[in-house]
Amino acid sequence: MVTTHNLGFPRIGAKRELKFALESYWKGLSSRDELKALGAQLRRRHWENQQGLDVVPVGDFAFYDQVLDMSFTLGNLPERVQGFHGDALDNYFRVARGRSAQAAEEHGACCGGVAAGEMTKWFDTNYHYIVPEFTASTGFTLDPSRLVTQLTEARSAGVNAKPVIIGPVTYLWLGKAKDDSGRLALLPKLLPVYGALLDTFAAQGVEWVQIDEPALVSELDPAWQQAFVTAYETLETRRVKLLLATYFGQLQDNLALACSLPVDGLHIDAINARDEVAKAAQALPADRVLSVGAINGRNIWKTDLDAALEWLEPLAKMLGDRLWIAPSCSLLHVPVDLASEQKLDAEIRSWLAFALQKLDELKVLASALNQGRASVAAELSANAAAIESRRTSPRVHNPAVKAAAAKIDAALGRRASVYGQRAPKQSAILNLPAYPTTTIGSFPQTAEIRHARSEHKRGALDHAGYQAAMRKEIERSVREQEALGLDVLAHGEAERNDMVEYFGEQLDGYTFSQLGWVQSYGSRCVKPPILFGDISRPKAMTVEWITYAQSLTAKPMKGMLTGPVTILNWSFVRDDQPRSVSCHQLALAIRDEVLDLEKAGVRVIQIDEAALREGLPLRRAQWNDYLQWAVESFRITANGVRDETQIHTHMCYSEFNGIIASIADMDADVITIETSRSDMELLDAFDNFKYPNEIGPGVYDIHSPNIPSQEHIVQLMKKAAERIPAERLWVNPDCGLKTRQWEEVIPALTNMVAAAKTLRG
Ligand code: GLN
Ligand code: ZN
Repeated sequence: MVTTHNLGFPRIGAKRELKFALESYWKGLSSRDELKALGAQLRRRHWENQQGLDVVPVGDFAFYDQVLDMSFTLGNLPERVQGFHGDALDNYFRVARGRSAQAAEEHGACCGGVAAGEMTKWFDTNYHYIVPEFTASTGFTLDPSRLVTQLTEARSAGVNAKPVIIGPVTYLWLGKAKDDSGRLALLPKLLPVYGALLDTFAAQGVEWVQIDEPALVSELDPAWQQAFVTAYETLETRRVKLLLATYFGQLQDNLALACSLPVDGLHIDAINARDEVAKAAQALPADRVLSVGAINGRNIWKTDLDAALEWLEPLAKMLGDRLWIAPSCSLLHVPVDLASEQKLDAEIRSWLAFALQKLDELKVLASALNQGRASVAAELSANAAAIESRRTSPRVHNPAVKAAAAKIDAALGRRASVYGQRAPKQSAILNLPAYPTTTIGSFPQTAEIRHARSEHKRGALDHAGYQAAMRKEIERSVREQEALGLDVLAHGEAERNDMVEYFGEQLDGYTFSQLGWVQSYGSRCVKPPILFGDISRPKAMTVEWITYAQSLTAKPMKGMLTGPVTILNWSFVRDDQPRSVSCHQLALAIRDEVLDLEKAGVRVIQIDEAALREGLPLRRAQWNDYLQWAVESFRITANGVRDETQIHTHMCYSEFNGIIASIADMDADVITIETSRSDMELLDAFDNFKYPNEIGPGVYDIHSPNIPSQEHIVQLMKKAAERIPAERLWVNPDCGLKTRQWEEVIPALTNMVAAAKTLRG
């Protein structure tokens, strides 16, 4: 008999209950006890949701982040919060967000604001975790209370509980040493605490523990590989069974290592590493469980159950009771329940599966394996019909789009002349001063904008009324920019709810869920658009807005677009064709928009690629392939314009080491990046590479309410000019100003423009 289990369940709640409860608590509108009760209620509901599985995860719930939970379980609190006297949950929020709640702020110095822990992306997902902090003297002490409480709850809910923890090597691997010490040196201090935690589980009568070691899918040097051996040889003697879970990629050269570790079972992501399943089945000693992640935990498509059974059935025959099946990874990365969707098109809906539906698929697979396909004939035939409908639907397949994408060649992405030849033509037209000033695009999302948007959404404001309200906001931002004396203006993006959704809504081949929320970090969720079909652009998307904005000023107005790679990386994408193909289709659609803007007289066009770097694969060996099609897609989008048209791109980061050649290869005339916090040192990558085109290093940290002074901006730009020739420098903020207030933006940009004038002098 195969065993079914789950690696983790989305904790935010089908209606984002956790988000609202957290935010209410942080604002001081509800009590800590109410928040804790809501947590318990969600856990109970989620276990009910997972009924019918043989083994269910416990400890996958987190009020903010599972890695931060682990830090608290291991007693690894940053020194700056160690003296806190209040409730541990408040201290946890202090590390997560720099303070616990409004109420706690009033206690003064002892428990007021502290620096928040650094946040970074969880492998190649859009989930962000709080980075564990280490120093040479970091010590660990066990606090099993969270896990013991949840185990007790699970028991009383009648759940066959499998505690989930992050393994010791991945825990160290995810963290950061705040001094020069090596993280691995902490392993001997860490292992006894893990040992004690496993003993606690054993004392609670736990049989299996899921110990997550996704670091095994990345490139590990011998010292890290050895750490796995040391760790699991040390933990081997404990009285619980360990299921070592890997996910998000292939084990490759770590496969033999993973199979040889003295644990009781190994989980492999069969979506990303199907080939390795058979190899692991061969390599694992005969008493080990092999868990295969047969259902994609990262996308929203139905699984082709017949196809899955084709390879699962022989495996089940070979392994018998030793085969476990599960989603490929925690379901944290998908929305909870398709049944909540009221507006999705029925045909498209029939192709989708959210977390709950994925667990149903898992149960069908198990029945087919245990009792034969006939026992679930109806489910299998319904699934086959849905798969076939998607495979052949004219909604998905547009021959004209496929033909255009197939015809892409290098010439499509090449500009007529090199930068050195087109730059003088651009400056002859744009006539900009040295150190030209601009912004990244968006201006504050005012209460008026939000009000008009929600009125429009609920039908109280008609289309014309909404357009008029947005035009008024655009006019306001143009007037403000003129008064500030900026050189290249932006329309402010008032009409855009979101930089990806806005375009998705206007492209064919996209659809949107109502409640398809996925946790990004803490209480923040995103609702990725669903890219389901071949992409085309029925009509121009931005031209009217931009030409309206241009009509209000004699200064150049930037056309503002989101690039294909960013649209792709922030969507749920198709699994029936490579990402590169979807990206090429997006590139062709946005290219048409670029050309329409140019035709309408727009002289500067910015194509944001905020998410280009975050799409980098986990392993460096795969970077080139990704960068090749990502850069090609950008080039297709951008480079069909005349020499005289100036192309900008923007990226929300500044760490370009390792990818600078690809950035240069995009061949944008101007790139604006985030640099204000790094004191311009991150421009070294551009300097060392002799980056040939123009750069706008951000001088205003838009994530902070602080107003940068004119002197500070001058200083930053002088540092920039030590690295990049002054004639190729622009002066601009780090990113869009959407989240700031006009009261902050005006003084900050006033100082920025004054700084540019000083520099010209
Ligand atoms: N043009 C966008 C804005 O200004 C860019 C946002 C981003 O880079 N994330 O809001
Ligand atoms: Zn940005």
